[in-house]
Amino acid sequence: MEIRKHLHIVRRQKKVDWTQFLCGIPARDYIFQKEPYEEQITQASAYLKEADHVLIGAGAGLSAAAGLTYSGKRFQENFSDFIKKYGLQDMYSAGFYPFQTEEERCGYWCRHSYVNRIKPPALLLYQQLFDLVKEKDYFVLTTNVDHQFQKAGFSEERIFATQGDYGRIQCMKGCHPRTYDAVSMFAQMVQAEKDCKIPSYMVPKCPVCGGPMAMNLRCDQYFVEDEQWNEAAENYGKYLKQLKKGKAVLLELGVGFNTPSIIRFPFEKMVREHKNTELIRLNRDEAVIPESFGERGIGINRDLCDSLRDITIEIKKISADHLQDS
Ligand SMILES: [Zn+2]
Repeated sequence: MEIRKHLHIVRRQKKVDWTQFLCGIPARDYIFQKEPYEEQITQASAYLKEADHVLIGAGAGLSAAAGLTYSGKRFQENFSDFIKKYGLQDMYSAGFYPFQTEEERCGYWCRHSYVNRIKPPALLLYQQLFDLVKEKDYFVLTTNVDHQFQKAGFSEERIFATQGDYGRIQCMKGCHPRTYDAVSMFAQMVQAEKDCKIPSYMVPKCPVCGGPMAMNLRCDQYFVEDEQWNEAAENYGKYLKQLKKGKAVLLELGVGFNTPSIIRFPFEKMVREHKNTELIRLNRDEAVIPESFGERGIGINRDLCDSLRDITIEIKKISADHLQDS
């Protein structure tokens, strides 16, 4: 009894920070690498230049760096009426706001989709990324739902967007395995919106159960993985088999610790399991790399715009040098 009591006290005293828990369990040897930035860029460029396959893993940090920021000026400019009426803080938390009516909920989401998915053209950072890998056997695994990869020219057959699409809707309860293109519907709703609400006749209903519709986003157990999603998952599976043949680079961009089990941890597992695989992790704040990866892991802790631009310049330099030599 005495021992149990003691243990209880010890446990209570030890504070657990969830981010440390996530960092600490899969890779106990996470470090911020000490090599100078220029050296890291040179090394990363050489890896990419020599790679047969480039698997891109992209998280929220990539779209934020590209310009699709969810707070600050961009949020205030596009949602001033919603901020005034509901006290919304940013576009991320706004997605969880308990709107009381369907007219209000759709009013928010059509604007959100319009601002982040429908209106923006292919952003420069995504275009640069496409130029970097278009000649390679590439594939994109992403948690982003803003359609930027498709807009920038990446082939649909080479993209697996695991968490959905701001441009599609589904039955809120997932009663049938289909999703629906909502791009033109949202654009019309945005036009018709008044006082943060859409007209009642515009509220979409599930064609099967008659219930409300929701965004096709993985936020609860009702997320619909439709035919297209399953096809993309299959393509990704096939690509992973190819990846084992030849030299592979995993180019991880802006993936934090929100959902690390989709990209970050599996990428680390691939590096551990396959000797011909290298990891380039570009992340403004969290470019920690397992020390045990040695030279097969590069973690560059910088703004993605800077590091991707510098890698592109360096690769062009290497190519020019090769041409001169031959
Ligand atoms: Zn339904």
